[in-house]
Amino acid sequence: MKVKAEYIWIDGYEPTANLRSKTKVLDRAVSSVSELPTWGFDGSSTLQADGGDSDCLLKPVWMCPDPIRGGENILVMNEVCNPDGTPHKSNSRAALVEIAEKFKEHKPWFGIEQEYTLMDGKQPAGWPEEGFPERPQGPYYCSVGSEDVAARSMVEDHLDLCLEAGLEVSGINAEVMLGQWEYQVGPLPALEVGDQLWVARWLLERVGEEYGLRVELHPKPIKGDWNGSGAHINYSTESMRADGGLKVIEEACEKLGQNVDKHIAVYGDANEERLTGDHETCSINEFKYGVSDRGASIRIPMGVANDGKGYLEDRRPASNVDPYKACAALIDTTCS
Ligand code: ADP
Ligand code: MN
Ligand code: MN
Ligand code: MN
Repeated sequence: MKVKAEYIWIDGYEPTANLRSKTKVLDRAVSSVSELPTWGFDGSSTLQADGGDSDCLLKPVWMCPDPIRGGENILVMNEVCNPDGTPHKSNSRAALVEIAEKFKEHKPWFGIEQEYTLMDGKQPAGWPEEGFPERPQGPYYCSVGSEDVAARSMVEDHLDLCLEAGLEVSGINAEVMLGQWEYQVGPLPALEVGDQLWVARWLLERVGEEYGLRVELHPKPIKGDWNGSGAHINYSTESMRADGGLKVIEEACEKLGQNVDKHIAVYGDANEERLTGDHETCSINEFKYGVSDRGASIRIPMGVANDGKGYLEDRRPASNVDPYKACAALIDTTCS
């Protein structure tokens, strides 16, 4: 029986890349990514090659059941490589493979809170055709009721698809701006959280096609007194999770404070529009960490402070962050 494998990859657009995918028909079902053939694509159509020498290589690195097509069909996450098999310059995952290997004895885990806005034409879902909702921000976060909720059925469909695909999604919630939502992926090791977040993003785009809604990952889609979208990264190592871990968490915060520019550089484009110091953010020009502080760069959750161990929450990454780059920076800064 023929099987459809949807090969997914990240293109070469800057500063924010996009997902691409195409379907490979296989002669039989596969049970592991190592059974999948490499494939190619026209890199001149994705800003990854010149027209004269346009072939790029797709190297399968992670797969899961395709919850849309069902059956034995699969979704396949790929790294983009040059024709000689070396990582393409747009391939941020290859660098993470090296860092994850180098520091694997620290057993880093990540949980990423992906915020996003669903757009209905030029306006967020649930907004009037022009102007602003009748009521300002306040009632929309974790709301229920038709006055305060928009596009819930698409969000529910996305959650079901993620779970059917076997993605480690830990929850969803309506966010502070009407039409803005969040899902969380993790906790998982770095490569897994990155692969699964990219596939969850692909599924969201895909289900958006059915609803005619566009997924906006810009960190400040609506200017003014409306929350931006982030991708808080919750992070721990084995020693942070063990007794006495709070001290290790505080040491990590100090190291992060000495590497602000390195981190902001990989935490997403246009993030300065979001990290203003308002709307539950810390200014991009400041660094502070604190227990339970949603106005800090890094929050140590209350439960973690009480237990004396656990994880930290880096609140700076933007909704359009590349999780491969951000996770690599977190491990590199805190484990070396
Ligand atoms: P918030 O209160 O900031 O909205 P969420 O419940 O949305 O928090 O997200 C918390 C995230 O923290 C989840 O993705 C969860 O998987 C992750 N998490 C929990 N424990 C750990 C840990 N030990 N290491 C890393 N991430 C963790
Ligand atoms: Mn959250
Ligand atoms: Mn949130
Ligand atoms: Mn958070």
